[in-house]
Amino acid sequence: MKRGAWGVIAVVIALAGLGIFSVQRLEGSAPILVTDEKVVLGPKGWNLIIDLEDHDSGPRSLQVRLLDQSGSRSLAEKSFPGGSLAGGDSEASRQHFELHLDPADLRVPDGTATLVISARDWSWRDGFAGNRSELSIPVLVDTRPPQVALVSGLTYIKRGGSAAAVYRLGEATAQDGVRVDDIFYPGFPHPSGEEDLRVALFAVPVEASEQPSIRVVAVDSAGNEGQVRFPARVQQRIFQQSEIEIGEPFVERVATPLAHTAGLPEGDPAETFQGVNEILRGRNETTIREELAKAPLGDRRWTGAFRQLPGSAVMSRFAELRNYSLAGQPVSQARHYGFDLASTAHAPITAAAAGRVVFAEDLGIYGLCVLVDHGLGLSSLYAHLSEIDVEPGDDIEGGAILGHSGATGLAGGDHLHFAVLVGGTYVNPMEWWDPKWVRSHIDVRLKPPRS
Ligand SMILES: [Zn+2]
Repeated sequence: MKRGAWGVIAVVIALAGLGIFSVQRLEGSAPILVTDEKVVLGPKGWNLIIDLEDHDSGPRSLQVRLLDQSGSRSLAEKSFPGGSLAGGDSEASRQHFELHLDPADLRVPDGTATLVISARDWSWRDGFAGNRSELSIPVLVDTRPPQVALVSGLTYIKRGGSAAAVYRLGEATAQDGVRVDDIFYPGFPHPSGEEDLRVALFAVPVEASEQPSIRVVAVDSAGNEGQVRFPARVQQRIFQQSEIEIGEPFVERVATPLAHTAGLPEGDPAETFQGVNEILRGRNETTIREELAKAPLGDRRWTGAFRQLPGSAVMSRFAELRNYSLAGQPVSQARHYGFDLASTAHAPITAAAAGRVVFAEDLGIYGLCVLVDHGLGLSSLYAHLSEIDVEPGDDIEGGAILGHSGATGLAGGDHLHFAVLVGGTYVNPMEWWDPKWVRSHIDVRLKPPRS
């Protein structure tokens, strides 16, 4: 073949190559933009995350604009490496971009706005400007705390006791309730059904500070927190202490099997008892809080006072501090957050009030244990049973038989360990057994308020 022919072939190949190249550079697929579906600008601002991808020509530029009543302004502009001839760098086909939006810096008023995010690639389309993508994101600017108005008045609360707060909200909230020191008690719709009216049962824990801070708080979806001080007088109480001498046979018979099941040290009797009384107890308390927090009942199931186990004698009172010793040596300490009630052995155990069974199984130191949710954050616990006759999810009436008494778990003999909880706090059951207290402290607050 002549040299001229080779030249023609070279030109044809070159033109073909250029043609393919041009077609590639004229690709029409726009950059892919992924970002938040909506932006809620509260007091803490919002971290906007944008992911940009373009695998044909590569990302070229990104622009973020804010549109509000005052007009449109650019918040960020970014260009990515590349050139018109060859396109973007192959390693730069994915871009990650973050932009912190602060309502104070942006001086954007409360209300709605729009973020317009646009991107271009290095394609030759659109007169070499590139393919364009655009997203419009709705923005809610909310920097005002929700309004909370107290409905219930001054309340006297005993340390270790319960109370109810009734309040009205000015807007829908993400979370509202009562905060005692740093413990939060969620609010629920008020039983009257009145819109925006809420009720929260709360407690002054035995361990609360001397004069605990008690506040009704409401947090909206933007993170604004509104709060009002709850007018309360906390009445101090002295809790009993008791000295309990445990023998080695008790440790061997009762504590060692519990330690064994829980994978705790078992050998030295003092260490065994300590592990069960402190580490296992701690784990069991965590389980109780978790079970109660899973799906708390928002409607009130109980009416009037709780019923004490029929025919039972009180053996041990609420929040007594127990000091345990072994062969005269102190080994462990624990506060007893319930009532020990003794009846006949294997006595039927009845529910203190109506509710829903949330837990019914073996639970370490509590042995066979039943937890009943009575609604609005109020629940009761029945421990050391020999037999359980209910299942989680069972809706029960007050007085329903939950099982039979026994001595399972960390118990010396057949008795019922009974406890009442408000939120995750053990409270004194005496109040809930007292019809007068329930009427004057709780029932009045669950009736429709006088306007
Ligand atoms: Zn007990």
